[in-house]
Amino acid sequence: MIVVASTNGKVGIEAASNVLRSGGSALDAVEAGIRLVEANPEDHTVGYSGLPSILGEVELDASIMDGQTLCSGAVGAVKTYKYPISIARKVMESLPHVFLVGEGAERFAHELGFEQENLLSDEATKVWREGLERTLSSKAIEQLSSHKDLSSLVRLATDPERTKGTVNFIAQDAKGNIATGVSTSGWAWKYPGRLGDSPVIGAGNYADNRYGAAACTGMGEMSIRGCTAFSLISHMKYGKSVLEAGTLAMEELRSLGGNFIQDMNIVALDKEGNHAAFSSIVGKTYIYQTPDMASAQELERVFVKLDKRWQLDS
Ligand code: ASP
Repeated sequence: MIVVASTNGKVGIEAASNVLRSGGSALDAVEAGIRLVEANPEDHTVGYSGLPSILGEVELDASIMDGQTLCSGAVGAVKTYKYPISIARKVMESLPHVFLVGEGAERFAHELGFEQENLLSDEATKVWREGLERTLSSKAIEQLSSHKDLSSLVRLATDPERTKGTVNFIAQDAKGNIATGVSTSGWAWKYPGRLGDSPVIGAGNYADNRYGAAACTGMGEMSIRGCTAFSLISHMKYGKSVLEAGTLAMEELRSLGGNFIQDMNIVALDKEGNHAAFSSIVGKTYIYQTPDMASAQELERVFVKLDKRWQLDS
């Protein structure tokens, strides 16, 4: 039994471990851990208090996957419900669908009786406004909601060094079942309706009991294009260790062309309980906890260099 998470999962890893200790499932552990991160007002990359889109609206994305059945559920662009991971789980368990977005996801959450709330905190509003003021004229800021060329503003306001973050949880329970969950508020100042990799099964999240699980943080546009979570699993399927598979999945991102290439991070677990994590940023960490450990341990990720490019057209 084990829980592996991105480092911002610290607030939830004990709860996830407790689920496993008391004989609960990997799915329950992942959901319990992520809910605490979604509720954490100090984390501006996930759930309540996440940083908003360029229009100042929080849009949350999440997904969950059951490695036993390969069933999965995902939601995108959820604006008024704090726990998208729980909506995603219900999509998986009570609908014949995998993915709901926007109004449909909200309607479904309402039907489930989930509590609706304002997700935009004062602190997130302050960071959002300061970001706009750094890059846009006051006239452009005043006219945001009716602006005819929002896309050019997004390109200006999106600072790749400041805008990202997500939480990843992977758990393996006493029966050997593996589950993964990913939740994010996505890029701050994103174009409304933008979805990253977090809710895209195979991109930001994949679990398969036969091999293991992987989940990503970083620039979702890259892991969508590289099918990065699935790529790592498929390398394990063809005999690579978790360490080799993660390094290969990261290295494959070097072949992505285009002007917008930034950072990628992966956490991974194989079916034997071996874990590793990878990052294109030197010194980045991840955490893990087994039920016999009193607290989570933080370990450094394997660094895999990616060449960053962020080239706006002149
Ligand atoms: N992967 C997330 C996204 O692209 C953001 C992040 O993890 O930094 O939405």
